[in-house]
Amino acid sequence: RFITFEGGEGAGKSTQVERLRSRLSQHGIDAIATREPGGAPRAERIRDFLLAGKAKALGPAAEAILFSAARNDHLETTIRPALARGQWVLCDRFCDSTRAYQGALGDLDPTFLARLEEVVVGPTRPDLTFILDLPPELGLARADARRQALSEATDRFEAEDIGFHQALRAAFLTIAQEEPARCVVIDASREADAVAADIWSHVEARLLG
Ligand code: C5P
Repeated sequence: RFITFEGGEGAGKSTQVERLRSRLSQHGIDAIATREPGGAPRAERIRDFLLAGKAKALGPAAEAILFSAARNDHLETTIRPALARGQWVLCDRFCDSTRAYQGALGDLDPTFLARLEEVVVGPTRPDLTFILDLPPELGLARADARRQALSEATDRFEAEDIGFHQALRAAFLTIAQEEPARCVVIDASREADAVAADIWSHVEARLLG
């Protein structure tokens, strides 16, 4: 089984990936937690390049190709081998992030992105995608608090204005509407326990039933 988590900054994706992994493990299901961009040594190097802002001068098409290069490596090195071993794969961001950030917000031609996705991802599609949805003001405040606690620098996307984050939220909700069989929108403004319980109920109903 392949489950992805999507959403804007401060939505709690990595927390929920970890919650679900440990809950599955309590049920005797072996799952790996991974993330994009990254999730494999070479892909993590592409992540460093992209997030350091060095790629800012790239146009959205070149950026989408780099994210896709990282995804290709991640799929071949981490995701497909795990699925082949019978493990579940829980991934923090996947194709929908490219559709939202580079596609909707980068104003990229959807046909170009769809073809890129087909070449890179092929048949390895998520069985289920959680869109963690919350008002961007709340997400950004959470991301700020986390950054201060960890003394991390703001990355180039977190530094965008509120309109950017509102458009991002709308882009994810549109994806969920377009693919209701795969996507579940989760109210991520609640505390982590409530969000985790909600996610678990969907996993039980859809994948364990
Ligand atoms: O989820 P995380 O914060 O680790 O993502 C790293 C950054 O990369 C985020 O700021 C996100 O906005 C950006 N990103 C992107 N396009 C993607 C995936 C992530 O711009 N396809």
